Amino acid sequence: MSPHLLAAPLLAGQRRALARAITLVESTRPQDEASAQELLTELAPQGGRSIRIGLTGVPGVGKSTFIEALGLWLAERGHRVAVLAVDPSSVRTGGSIMGDKTRMPGLSVHPQAFIRPSPSGGTLGGVARRTREAMTLCEAAGYDVILVETVGVGQSETQVAGMTDLFVLLTLPNAGDELQGIKRGIMELCDLAVVNKADTDPKAANRAQSQLTAALSLLTSHAAEWHPRALQVSALTGKGIEGFWEAVQQFRGEVDLSARRRSQTAAWFDELLREAVWKAFAAGRAEELAAAREQVQAGQQTPVQMVRQLIP
Ligand code: GDP
Repeated sequence: MSPHLLAAPLLAGQRRALARAITLVESTRPQDEASAQELLTELAPQGGRSIRIGLTGVPGVGKSTFIEALGLWLAERGHRVAVLAVDPSSVRTGGSIMGDKTRMPGLSVHPQAFIRPSPSGGTLGGVARRTREAMTLCEAAGYDVILVETVGVGQSETQVAGMTDLFVLLTLPNAGDELQGIKRGIMELCDLAVVNKADTDPKAANRAQSQLTAALSLLTSHAAEWHPRALQVSALTGKGIEGFWEAVQQFRGEVDLSARRRSQTAAWFDELLREAVWKAFAAGRAEELAAAREQVQAGQQTPVQMVRQLIP
């Protein structure tokens, strides 16, 4: 098979080729899908040398300020930083609020940074898949730090935690009240909890850090490969950014990331397969399935009996 037209310029790190390749994987046209999958297969051996960091937190916690500060700090030290987003509101509205260039004014014009807003439209699963593929493309183009942002609402955190090496929860100094609001599920996903805006109330930030440390240790077994940690930063002043990066390096040293990625890939494959099997099964049978559902609701057959009847 001849090499994909975009492969060479992308591997050479050309931003236009990267942007076009991402547009290709985001396309829903069938002929584009085949071409995109060929490109991804060709580039697959180039992946794996980056660190993928997922970030979540409620709107206003300071995600874009933090990404801007961390991204510029890393770029100054020779890293190439890509910022992607999984934004569930883009699924609902067809527009995207995240990854907006005005939110990261310095990073968006930095030659060593690449910012791409959330793909819009389709299901959350579809948006997550396209972000996953965009990550592979960014890695092939030489970006060694990939930041994937999501808003702290619902399923998107699970998706982002499932596609990144390390998952970060950003919180505020008034975590005492906030802790109640942080869903246990999100605490269970996070490898680092970061109290942002520590400059606004240093005492409260200390307290929040201790509370988070205690909460995280309750959720982690002693035998775990990594014990999630709580840190504090001020994205606005840059204080704590270096400490954050040190924690990331420590995490990289202690956790077997290639094993993590392999199991993430397997889980993703299973998810795609489940989706495809369901689609293939349900195609053209909407009425039949609706009737079956009604029969089960009316108690004419048990759900188990009905499933056995549909799939002997
Ligand atoms: P996002 O919605 O999570 O992306 O939050 P933003 O990054 O847009 O930040 C929301 C507001 O908080 C902005 O006005 C920021 O300037 C401010 N902010 C972010 N980080 C800090 C911080 O560390 N200290 C202070 N004092 N303000 C901050």
